[in-house]
Amino acid sequence: MTTIVSSSELTSRAVQRRVEAGSSVICTACDQQVKFAAKQNRQQVIANVYLAGRWDRVEHYHAECYEEAGAPHGTPSEQVLSSRSRKS
Ligand SMILES: [Zn+2]
Repeated sequence: MTTIVSSSELTSRAVQRRVEAGSSVICTACDQQVKFAAKQNRQQVIANVYLAGRWDRVEHYHAECYEEAGAPHGTPSEQVLSSRSRKS
């Protein structure tokens, strides 16, 4: 799985995704684990942070924490995973 990143766009940005099973990342805003919950369709925000035009780090947030923080890395775009076609 490779994501092609346009080199002309070296600014911080965020995407919103579903929290996946086995997730063990820590929310940057509240310091709590971003946990997968089977019955809930939890959302997380993953931000690629660029400093001075260079990639610096990835930050994870609960979707609600990211909003509360005032979307520090811009409005998250929703990433559609098109390769998943699960039946049953
Ligand atoms: Zn949080």
